[in-house]
Amino acid sequence: MINTHYQTLPDNYLFAAIARKVREFEAGHPGQPVIRMGIGDVTRPLAPAVVEAMREAAAEMGCAETFRGYDDAQGYPFLKEAVAAHYARLGAAAAPDEILISDGAKSDAGNLLDIFSPDCVALIPDPVYPVYVDTNRMDGRAVRFMDATPDNGFLPMPDASAQADIIYLCSPNNPTGAAYNRDQLAAWVAYARERGAVILFDAAYEAFAGEAGIPRSIYEIEGARECAIEVGSLSKMAGFTGVRCGWTLVPPELVRDGVSLRQMWLRRQNTKFNGVSYITQRGAAAALSPEGLAQCRENIDYYRENARLIAGTMDALGIAYTGGRNSPYIWLECPGGDSWAFFDRLLERAQVVGTPGAGFGQNGEGFFRLSSFGTHENTRKAMRRFRELGAGG
Ligand code: PLP
Repeated sequence: MINTHYQTLPDNYLFAAIARKVREFEAGHPGQPVIRMGIGDVTRPLAPAVVEAMREAAAEMGCAETFRGYDDAQGYPFLKEAVAAHYARLGAAAAPDEILISDGAKSDAGNLLDIFSPDCVALIPDPVYPVYVDTNRMDGRAVRFMDATPDNGFLPMPDASAQADIIYLCSPNNPTGAAYNRDQLAAWVAYARERGAVILFDAAYEAFAGEAGIPRSIYEIEGARECAIEVGSLSKMAGFTGVRCGWTLVPPELVRDGVSLRQMWLRRQNTKFNGVSYITQRGAAAALSPEGLAQCRENIDYYRENARLIAGTMDALGIAYTGGRNSPYIWLECPGGDSWAFFDRLLERAQVVGTPGAGFGQNGEGFFRLSSFGTHENTRKAMRRFRELGAGG
């Protein structure tokens, strides 16, 4: 009767356990406010251009002449064109009809698996955004892990001996903050093409990739259109975590077993998905307009400033870390080694909440994720407390 693969899923306890520990601490220490640097949610408000576009769209919906009901599940042309223009700016030309608008990268990353056989093998980095692992396990698909460790800068590279059909790459990475350079991504594209594998490239954090030589899209790499699907999101780029909008790009060149994956994805979405609201899509298009992009950039720069502050504190304390330069996350080596023990010490002694690396996979143990998505004030305060705690935590 039931899909027994669900019984193979680990308890999704990470953020629930963090919330419970924080609740208990707050109840016991009413005068000690806690600073949250754990969950990867944004805090800056939407860009004014986005709010204005959504207000206008809501007004259109309230008028018989401009009301919109069901429409093309793939997304309105105005938004697909705005996303295509975004790719053109990155130097990764894409046609609007290759882009399917969705309610976010999380749903698409999971839903895309509908077009792959459960007999495929998925190759997934460890540590990792847990959604990739769980969605494959739900289908009973075999998962192979590739180690992301300090030895490879948390950027695993192709291993000739590993068999894989679907390869997950997330760059800039959650949780490690590491980002692949052009040559490294080119090596992955060559590997996937050689083996007929498909790369699922999660570009949710591309807006944070600031350094030269760090691609913001897999399609900046020659040959990627024959082997890669890219999932994009407005969540971190434009603060849409609560609005919900993203996209998936499947190039027509991507063919496996003689079948176009774009046609399969279209078929899947047309059957199971009825599109994103008009108001949301208007807001998304405004976020990708020149005015919207400039306003969103101010928010990204705000978070970047926090990331610099966190990284500077780690430098001063001599704590090794990755991330921060091309990512909102700082992934640090846990003083003392045990990531949950460090979580407890940080909460009790500094009233700062982060995310224990153990929650992101076996290789996450010994590491800790801090997010730069808070306010300047809280980040400064948290880093002061961190310094008081000292390098030993
Ligand atoms: N992909 C990664 C790597 C993420 O970390 C997140 C959210 O934190 C998402 C996707 C979710 O994106 P969305 O809000 O567009 O569903």
